[in-house]
Amino acid sequence: ADEASMLVGILELSSKTVFQIMTKADDVFCLSVDDCLDRRLLKRILRLGHSRIPIYDGCRDNIIAILLVKQLLLVDPNKALPIRAIIRRKKRSHKKKVVSPVYVSKQCNLLDLLNEFQVGRSHMAIVVESLEPPADHGTRRFLGIVTLEDIVEEMIKEEVLDE
Ligand code: ADP
Repeated sequence: ADEASMLVGILELSSKTVFQIMTKADDVFCLSVDDCLDRRLLKRILRLGHSRIPIYDGCRDNIIAILLVKQLLLVDPNKALPIRAIIRRKKRSHKKKVVSPVYVSKQCNLLDLLNEFQVGRSHMAIVVESLEPPADHGTRRFLGIVTLEDIVEEMIKEEVLDE
């Protein structure tokens, strides 16, 4: 990356929306709170290599948590615990922040989201149509995700290759 194009990338942050750069919901690897962490699923999670996995309850639109894959380090594959148990345990322990997802509306610009990431609650945001509760009392439609890395790529105008 060179400095001049990075400066342009930075100046463009406030005019780009999360909707323009998000990883679309269809391409996001999500799991249900009812999925059991048996050996098969743990292997699949390892193979995919994501650090964070959105967790839904019921339908895929209802994302209720972001699972940090590093939380699974000490999970016993023989117990095949449901993800719900891991999330519940986490909430009780108070040691770490509760991973309630950061929601952003699709019009949110990248500078605002970067500032939200800086607060440190999560480095993955869930993009939804609007933050207003839906008129029909249903769940908001889950459109996609944006992570800190997606924003960094826009800033440097180059892809960050995965480790
Ligand atoms: P990771 O550490 O999992 O590679 P990053 O935050 O570095 O995640 O993001 C790398 C890219 O992968 C980004 O484009 C991001 O949108 C995408 N990504 C992150 N998590 C997931 C997931 N669970 N499913 C699909 N894509 C993801």
